[in-house]
Amino acid sequence: MNKPPAFSNTHLDLIEELKWAGQQATANRLVIGSGGNLSARVPDSDTFLITASGTWLDTLKDEDFSVVSLSGDVVGGNPNPSSEFRLHLAAYITRADVNAVFHFHPQASVLLDALGHRIRLMTIDHVYYVRNVASTPWIPAGSEEIATATSTALESSDVVILGHHGCSVVADSIELAYKRAANLEEAASATLNALLLGDTTTECPPAYRELLENRAAIPELRDRH
Ligand SMILES: [Zn+2]
Repeated sequence: MNKPPAFSNTHLDLIEELKWAGQQATANRLVIGSGGNLSARVPDSDTFLITASGTWLDTLKDEDFSVVSLSGDVVGGNPNPSSEFRLHLAAYITRADVNAVFHFHPQASVLLDALGHRIRLMTIDHVYYVRNVASTPWIPAGSEEIATATSTALESSDVVILGHHGCSVVADSIELAYKRAANLEEAASATLNALLLGDTTTECPPAYRELLENRAAIPELRDRH
């Protein structure tokens, strides 16, 4: 008989949310097969939950999650966290405001970046959820170098394209991280379509971004558009 992982109710609540995000990400083709990984900071602790190595994001089970400390040690759950755990660890250390880190392989986003095209934010949703996109050159997956380069990029952006590979998206909640990643790929697809139609300049009016920045100072308006 398999021994059940020793998760707290807080862990189990986060795991349910991460399973939802994994299903959404797979259904919307932000990732396929066993690519990509998800993590969430455990509140009031110096640990985070992360998907284990080789897991498929559309069929995550409780035993597919590891608990990793901010010093990089596996302290619970599955003993084999994703090989990209350094990417997640560096993000939580760099950004105290971040509670969720998602790594996906969104094809249009990676393609545009590889071809040297900037991903243009076309709609108000793109601007609202993505804001701006940073990128790193290709660096071997799972390395300390990719973790360092990505966490440096996260100092000025919530979205980083990892050259010829994927993206790292961070947010203060699992739901927002998912919406941010989905809107990144939507913006990339829209940019790709615009380029195919011969358009190289169109993007969301700057006035919307200004409106949003002014609203950011008014808490009751912050989450609306
Ligand atoms: Zn990857």
